[in-house]
Amino acid sequence: MAYDSTSRSKKNTLGELQIIERIRSRASTTLSKSVRLGIGDDCAILRPPAGHEILVTTDFSLEGRHFRRDWHSAASAGHRTLARGLSDLAAMGAKPLAAFLSLALPDSSSENAAWLDGFLEGLLALAQRYGVPLAGGDTSKSPSNEILADIVLIGSSPAGRALRRSSARAGDRIYSTGSLGGAAAELASLAASPTKYRNSTAADNHPHLFPNPRLSAGQTLSSRRLATSCIDLSDGLSTDLMHLCSSSNVSAEIDAARLPIHPLAQRLDPNNALSAALHGGEDYELLFTVAPATKMPRSIGGVAITQIGQILRNRKGRPQVTLIDHEGHRSGLPPQGWEHLR
Ligand code: ADP
Ligand code: MG
Repeated sequence: MAYDSTSRSKKNTLGELQIIERIRSRASTTLSKSVRLGIGDDCAILRPPAGHEILVTTDFSLEGRHFRRDWHSAASAGHRTLARGLSDLAAMGAKPLAAFLSLALPDSSSENAAWLDGFLEGLLALAQRYGVPLAGGDTSKSPSNEILADIVLIGSSPAGRALRRSSARAGDRIYSTGSLGGAAAELASLAASPTKYRNSTAADNHPHLFPNPRLSAGQTLSSRRLATSCIDLSDGLSTDLMHLCSSSNVSAEIDAARLPIHPLAQRLDPNNALSAALHGGEDYELLFTVAPATKMPRSIGGVAITQIGQILRNRKGRPQVTLIDHEGHRSGLPPQGWEHLR
């Protein structure tokens, strides 16, 4: 607890206690059976399902690095903060148990109070959609003019069943859920005209501003034992596939002609469309591998899946990730996922 206590009595401004109370009253709509005790005590008390293991992930959302107040609405910033954590749970096939939000606002001005409302609206709408209780957090005054947020997600999965990035085998097919490059394409148009999507909401299709974490796809891959390994596409296909290959000690080959290019990226010229899909990042789709004998449906957990390549044995002189271009030529694909707001 550390906030601007002198400003608590001013109208329309927020001290720490008011912030927590505002969050608590709005978060109560997200509470579930798994949370025995939520916001209000020193700790939350969670009740994981019997026979399950606990999975934990934490992600920063820092103004200037992960979002910009002049590009992202507060609702988009809130949605994206939670979506990043949920996508990590999705990648391991886990079910969310609870979320914890640490938040630092620069000061208690009415501008920040309004921003907080929008942020909570975006975050809690997504929480409600996926049944994720907000069970606690921390609130402080930011040491700078930037808003800082950190989300912790606690999930569970049946013991021994969480999907990992380290268990792909040579011969496995590589799949992606959904489509790729949409987030990068939308970010580019946002950079060109920042106010364009000011009033858009999660109800519209906005791959960058309001991404959909693939929780049910991940849970299905795990519960039906369909995938040998899985990772979420946060940094970009070229970078995340390299992570999966390094962890699994294998190589991979990706077929450019098979990549499911998002409609927004298809509007770019073909080179930029391909590069958005390969390196754009933040699509929050799942990249997973499937043993040769496993029969796959066309969609999983309500989302289409596409085979985009295969896992190969490591061999001297073979790049870790190879791209087969539209003419059938093979070349090494170095990791070029980028940091968006660098
Ligand atoms: P303490 O000082 O004991 O750590 P706090 O005063 O920081 O407690 O928090 C009081 C309660 O409010 C705790 O249950 C905490 O989890 C919750 N809380 C504080 N900040 C947030 C936040 N940003 N989001 C959700 N819950 C919060
Ligand atoms: Mg305490």
